[in-house]
Amino acid sequence: SDAVVDKSGHSAATKAALDTSHFWMPFTDNKAFKSNPRIFASAEGMHYTSSDGTRILDATAGLWCVNAGHARREIADAVTRQIANLDYAPTFQLGHPLPFELASRLAGIMPDGLDRIFFTNSGSESADTALKMSLAYHRARGDTGRFRFVGRQRGYHGTNFGGTSVGGIGGNRSPFITQLWGVDHLSHTQGNAVRFQRGMQPGNEALADELESLIALHGGETIAAVIVEPVAGSTGVLIPPQGYLQRLRDITSKHGILLIFDEVITGFGRLGAATAAGHFGVTPDILTMAKGLTNGAIPMGAVAARTGIYDTVLDSVQSGIEFFHGYTYSGHPVASAAALATLKIYEDEGLFQRAAALAPVWEDAVHSLHDAPHVADIRNLGLVAGIELAPREGAPGARGTAAFQAAFESGLLIRTTGDIIAMSPPLIISEAQIEEITGKLRAILETLR
Ligand code: PLP
Repeated sequence: SDAVVDKSGHSAATKAALDTSHFWMPFTDNKAFKSNPRIFASAEGMHYTSSDGTRILDATAGLWCVNAGHARREIADAVTRQIANLDYAPTFQLGHPLPFELASRLAGIMPDGLDRIFFTNSGSESADTALKMSLAYHRARGDTGRFRFVGRQRGYHGTNFGGTSVGGIGGNRSPFITQLWGVDHLSHTQGNAVRFQRGMQPGNEALADELESLIALHGGETIAAVIVEPVAGSTGVLIPPQGYLQRLRDITSKHGILLIFDEVITGFGRLGAATAAGHFGVTPDILTMAKGLTNGAIPMGAVAARTGIYDTVLDSVQSGIEFFHGYTYSGHPVASAAALATLKIYEDEGLFQRAAALAPVWEDAVHSLHDAPHVADIRNLGLVAGIELAPREGAPGARGTAAFQAAFESGLLIRTTGDIIAMSPPLIISEAQIEEITGKLRAILETLR
């Protein structure tokens, strides 16, 4: 047979039956993938099932998003009910209750004062929304000279033009030639840290002072916002030194520059708290979210802004539209229903607290790999870990790719960026499954060339 019947009774085409020619796959080596596709048929809890029936332990929560585990019945039911009741309603000059309700719920778990919520459909849209919100805010105050943004090397803020520009990944920028104008980048926070660092440690927090140098260079009054991921995720889990984020906060506040935390990965329990801002005790002016907001089940993102930012923008016009920005699907009923059901799961099951409680177990487990072959560094925080492999001579990234493939074949989903393995399991993971991950990884590393 060339089809596998998944648990809902649908048949999923196997690799052999699948026409892979038309889907232009994102961030994928299309030719390599299509010559040997890895296809999922279904998912439940901590596992995917591939089209050939193999169970795959998900050590990455999909793409850092399925924080409550896969195929949650409560979310599926909420989505189904919502589509049948009110499938779509615009939120431009019209409304329906769900995004209002969701915004209130979100405001309740955001850091103090970040209680005005704008809805988007993705992390990339959240990043661009946050940048535009900063510009709108300064302009509303009559502070029209602030047009610059400061991002960070190895920062990832999605793939729209704003996010790509403030992002610090050459490979995502150079193919497209043009970028947003007036953007500088701080150094990333890796390389100054001790290897095999457990959790967050003291280090070179003075890296934040590079912002003072940019201020001296350009004039602080020209900078609209600084955007960073509190913990850089997709470029390999870079943990900031203790005090670094607070220092960025102090410098931005001193110069009237807005601080944006991109919490697309760190939000919704990844570090054992609702937000990294809450975990670190550093409050930005604007905070972006996506991914875990709907447990990955329906696309949705959000941006939380300080009340004062909202008030300033609203007060700047007597009547009429205050912020010329938004999406057809901002506050989409089905996405809102999925998000409300997701937040209820997080709360009912205490998943953020669970992540905090499991973090030491996770830390011990991932660091037990320090003596495995090829391992050059290990870093962790909350339920995130980065395992950096020594690159193969003359072939950077090859070992990472081989590790990813070997893991998949042995029933383990990891993520690799170059030679760095990144892991971020669903917060429902058990201690036994944590051990299973590290056991499988050790076996893979031992056979890896
Ligand atoms: N910001 C961060 C920190 C991310 O990690 C990501 C995605 O990985 C994004 C933004 C982009 O999100 P999306 O892929 O939903 O556009």
